[in-house]
Amino acid sequence: MTSPYIGRFAPTPSGLLHFGSLIAALASFLDARHAGGQWLLRIEDLDQTRSQADAERQILQALEDFGLEYDGTPVRQSERLELYRAQTERWLEQDLAYYCDCPRRALLEHGPVYPGTCSRRHLGARADHAVRVRVNDQPITCHDRLQPPLTQNLARELGDFIIRRRDGVYAYQLAVVLDDIDQGITDVVRGADLLDSTPRQVWLYQLLGQPTPGYLHVPLIMREDGEKLSKRLGSAPLQADQAPHTLWRALRALAQPIPTDLRGAPVAQQLDWAIAHWQPERLPATPHIMEHSLSD
Ligand code: GLU
Repeated sequence: MTSPYIGRFAPTPSGLLHFGSLIAALASFLDARHAGGQWLLRIEDLDQTRSQADAERQILQALEDFGLEYDGTPVRQSERLELYRAQTERWLEQDLAYYCDCPRRALLEHGPVYPGTCSRRHLGARADHAVRVRVNDQPITCHDRLQPPLTQNLARELGDFIIRRRDGVYAYQLAVVLDDIDQGITDVVRGADLLDSTPRQVWLYQLLGQPTPGYLHVPLIMREDGEKLSKRLGSAPLQADQAPHTLWRALRALAQPIPTDLRGAPVAQQLDWAIAHWQPERLPATPHIMEHSLSD
């Protein structure tokens, strides 16, 4: 028996929602609702220096303006540090993780693969040391409902990676996996900018002996100049009074053939149509789509 679908949207409150983040939110919402599943909201505010005051409130408001109703109460990563700390401790005790004091500059000079400098040094616990998890020299293949399979050998392409930074902030890779397991997430639908994080996350699932969720990475919309839409429009937060029009464009950007007579219709009406007709396989299996290729 397959478990009932539980999806989630996990925004980082480092800025307001823009068109790019709306696409990710909408895709995961539609995928969950089409499956008759739950859709949870998790605020990824691990890095308090990046979290902007008020961004969380405005994200919640934008979801409401667009009719994207989540189930239950939103959870905040800043309130779940004990979960991340306890797992990090366990891995340190089992020697599956180790402390690292390599200066950032030395690593940058060395290149993208961590050379394992601290792996046999057995540094003692210190709050200002980073913690790295050990990886192995085996290919990891990630399966995605849309994108072609992605294979990465973490030892050769990345090296042991950070799960707690030197400033004490737990890494996204760790928190996202522990939270998705803890919240019973069965399906992760998110932007293709996170594709290259997926092998690291799959590795953590393996270490934890847990099954991976299903993945669906939605292509990012790029401008003709090759810039990611989300970045470019970072300064253009979603406008509540434009919600029906923007939602229609977002559904078109997700390759859903929403009829023209629903253009500008109330968001609830558009969403009803989109939930019933959701077909993610209409999206191109590429990490990017060019904005000019979107039909209007
Ligand atoms: N917090 C991440 C972001 O806003 C998304 C994490 C995820 O969906 O796995 O980019």
